[in-house]
Amino acid sequence: MKRYQLKIDGQSTDPSSASWFETQNPFTGKTWAEIPKGNAQDVDRAVQAAHRSLTDGPWSEMTASQRGMLLHRLGDLIARDARKLAETEVRDNGKLYAEILGQLNYIPQWYYYFGGLADKIQGTVLPLDKKGYFCFTRNEPIGVVAAITPWNSPLMLAAWKIAPALAAGCTVVIKPSEFTSASTLEFAELFEEAGFPPGVFNVVTGFGQDVGASLVEHPLVRKISFTGSDTTGRIINEQAARHLKHTAMELGGKSPNIIFADADLEQAVFGAVSGIFAATGQTCIAGSRLLVQDSIYDAVVEKLLVIARTAKMGDPMDTGTQVGPVTTQPQYQKVLDYIDIARQDGATLLLGGRAANAAECGKGLFVEPTIFGDVNNGMRIAQEEVFGPVLSIIRFKDEAEALVIANDVRFGLAAAVWTSDIARAFRMTEKLQAGTVWVNTYRAVSFMAPFGGYKDSGLGRENGIDAIREFMQVKSTWINIGAATGNPFVMR
Ligand code: ADP
Repeated sequence: MKRYQLKIDGQSTDPSSASWFETQNPFTGKTWAEIPKGNAQDVDRAVQAAHRSLTDGPWSEMTASQRGMLLHRLGDLIARDARKLAETEVRDNGKLYAEILGQLNYIPQWYYYFGGLADKIQGTVLPLDKKGYFCFTRNEPIGVVAAITPWNSPLMLAAWKIAPALAAGCTVVIKPSEFTSASTLEFAELFEEAGFPPGVFNVVTGFGQDVGASLVEHPLVRKISFTGSDTTGRIINEQAARHLKHTAMELGGKSPNIIFADADLEQAVFGAVSGIFAATGQTCIAGSRLLVQDSIYDAVVEKLLVIARTAKMGDPMDTGTQVGPVTTQPQYQKVLDYIDIARQDGATLLLGGRAANAAECGKGLFVEPTIFGDVNNGMRIAQEEVFGPVLSIIRFKDEAEALVIANDVRFGLAAAVWTSDIARAFRMTEKLQAGTVWVNTYRAVSFMAPFGGYKDSGLGRENGIDAIREFMQVKSTWINIGAATGNPFVMR
């Protein structure tokens, strides 16, 4: 069995606790590796190293262009090792190899894009209202960044944080999810080869309450960039607020996927399937509420059932598999519990509704693709994030009612509209309360497009040009070039 080590200050090291915990393959149910059980002491070592790199030594001396070059090299190395990293990720989180390899092949773009952006962030010379001064702004790295990531797409979501943070000149300590730490530890091996000085990127694995909380509390961490559940996000944000730290929070969703009668129904149903059954529904942007206009309700349900009923479950490494296992035991239980809750609340079960135990599912944590019809938006299944292959279908009469239902939820991460009416598309995209709105598509993301939540779905934005500024702070510099010395007791 493979035993991993922490990555601190460029060194692979054992955790100070000298203990490890096991990580399982959610398809086979077998333990396949041991992950270091980090603690506050390891966090301190990692943050001290990151702080030294930030304030002293080669990283702090580099030009932005040099940082950009390193990020480019890192992107090349990820591209070279994409298959190996994808295999590790599938072994640890059970997502389809096709999906994860697609992610790994795309991840280098984050490092290229932000690497290219590193030396294009300019300060401003201010046309000052006071004579005798020259005043300009400078954008400086915000400090040591703590990145805390979830188990559903470990390296992709890490890239959204690491690439802009390093481009901005920050240094990083990352804590991946205790369920899927292996790929981040393997990825850390590439930094030295890419030419990064030690201490710029550190990995401390372990549990949220130990490693995660210690990172949030550490006085030398200035920014916490978190992706995960809204419950944990709130805890971290409260803790960070006590220490006046910056936070970026990418939290959950309960995204509406809205099909109007004038939509291309084939396409819309494909979009509905991709919104909820791709990645076994374990994505923050899952289109878990399908809003369907009355007149096409039966036709949509029929088409949807045909595809969902035949979705092939099985080994995530097989190219023919469409729905993989749920990643973790607690999550598996949570999905099954929500199915019970929906039943008790009176939703009509149209498909699935139980654990799947077909031969091809092996010992995996499989839940049958599940569809509830005639869901009322007030039901818990329509209001709370399930994070699994469970779809709620909700009827609506017209555009106005669709909008009310779509926005009547505390989340606001994503939303989609299926229509052939361009004016309606614009009206809807304007009124939907979500950080990402798609028209006639679903689950499209890019390093170029800002991503983040309205309402309880989060704070701040990842991706896009402005993401780099989330890791910078502005300094205004005043130079006296002949201003008169006035009364020292009066503001200049
Ligand atoms: P999930 O990924 O299952 O949605 P969480 O939001 O709890 O669950 O986890 C996301 C990340 O936050 C994980 O890396 C987890 O270890 C970490 N985490 C959990 N609790 C805390 C905490 N109290 N402080 C800091 N990090 C935490």
